[in-house]
Amino acid sequence: MAEPTLFEKILAGDIPGDLVYEDAHCAAFRDINPAAPLHVLLVPRKVIPKLSDAGDDDVDLLGHLMRVAPRIAEAEGYGDAFRLVVNNGAEAGQSVFHLHLHIIAGRPLKWPPG
Ligand code: C5P
Repeated sequence: MAEPTLFEKILAGDIPGDLVYEDAHCAAFRDINPAAPLHVLLVPRKVIPKLSDAGDDDVDLLGHLMRVAPRIAEAEGYGDAFRLVVNNGAEAGQSVFHLHLHIIAGRPLKWPPG
């Protein structure tokens, strides 16, 4: 069996994490190195290394994440202005190869991102 990913360990409680949301399909916790006043990582329980590895059978799961993310932003007080980021691949800034959405809010966000 594959070694659990860092985020599986956080979701399982084997590594401490500040969880803000969980359901049968995903969970969210505060980023250890926040880039903004709100910086939460929304992670599917299913290990998909990166977005481009997702298949047609993951469409419902991906849709679920997109429904949950605004609810988390809303619950944290940032329902009107937040940003979702998915880094896909090391060159795009991905460092943990277990798909996750960054939910970022609480300061002015520039465009385009760096
Ligand atoms: O998109 P990327 O893969 O780089 O995002 C990984 C994120 O996981 C980083 O923002 C990093 O701060 C966060 N992280 C965390 N807790 C850890 C290790 C990494 O929140 N123990």
